[in-house]
This record gives sequence, C-alpha cells and structure tokens, in this order.
Amino acid sequence: MKQMTVQIVTPDGVRYDHHATYVQCRTSVGEMGIYPGHSNLIAPLEIAEIKVRRIDDDNHVDWIAVNGGIIEVADDLITIVSDSAERERDIDVSRAERAKLVAEQEIQRAQAAHSIDQERRARVALQRAINRIHVGRH
Ligand code: ATP
Repeated sequence: MKQMTVQIVTPDGVRYDHHATYVQCRTSVGEMGIYPGHSNLIAPLEIAEIKVRRIDDDNHVDWIAVNGGIIEVADDLITIVSDSAERERDIDVSRAERAKLVAEQEIQRAQAAHSIDQERRARVALQRAINRIHVGRH
C-alpha cells in the first residue's frame, strides 16, 4: 500500500512521526487533502487542525492542533514545522477554555482602547484557543 511519512516538528522537537495514507490541513489558500504521490510543495499553514489517517492502528485518524507554520510535501515525506502542536489526547480543554475567555476579554479591552495591534494579537490567541478546544473534543 502506498504511504507517506508525516513528521511534525516544534521548538520542543519532533512531536509526531507516523505513516499515513491521507493528510488534511488548512493552508493560507484553503483546505488541502494529500494522498501518496502528491506533487511536492511548500505552503503556509493556518491555526487549524491537521487530520492524519494512519496506516497502522486500523486506519485510525489522529487530530493535531497546530499554531500555524509551514507544510512541506517532498516525495511522500510531509514535514510540518509549527510553533506548537498538540494531539487531541494531549490537549487540556479547560486550559484552552480559560485562554479563550482571557482572549475575549482582551479583545473587548483592545476595542475600548482603539488598539488595533492589541486586538489583532488577542484574536490570534482566541483562534489558538478555539482550535485547541475543537481538536481536544474530537
Ligand atoms: P495559554 O494561555 O493557555 O498558555 P497559549 O496559546 O498562550 O495558551 P502557546 O504559547 O500557544 O499557549 O503554547 C505554549 C505551550 O503550551 C506549547 O508547548 C503548547 O503546546 C502548550 N499548550 C498551550 N495550551 C495548551 C492546552 N490547552 N493543552 C495542552 N498544551 C497546551
């Protein structure tokens, strides 16, 4: 069976390394599905979930929350480099819910202070939190 190797690297090291038959991710130009034999590419990633259908473990699907980054597809080796990456089982959903609340409050403060930069940062933090909650609940 044709397969790909999927490696996810963060500043903490290799966080994920498995063989897969299908990978789905969200790039800056939209959702992308990758099967073995896909053409080589490099693309920026959104703060979103990565879906990996594993070749072992009875075609089990893994979900990984990534904090943006870059995906490279090179001859069936998929490398994802991101600031952070957490699998569904590693996500502390209550921590992410607290982070969501803090980000929402920060957005309100930023709007009251007419601070575009502060609001932009808070919206990114909100996106991270929502992504983690979503992945953690899979
Ligand atoms: P928080 O405000 O809860 O710290 P954050 O978005 O500021 O969240 P990051 O800076 O993106 O956190 O990540 C810092 C580290 O903490 C990373 O190693 C990341 O994997 C981990 N992390 C952040 N939130 C969670 C979570 N809800 N569950 C598990 N690990 C998390």
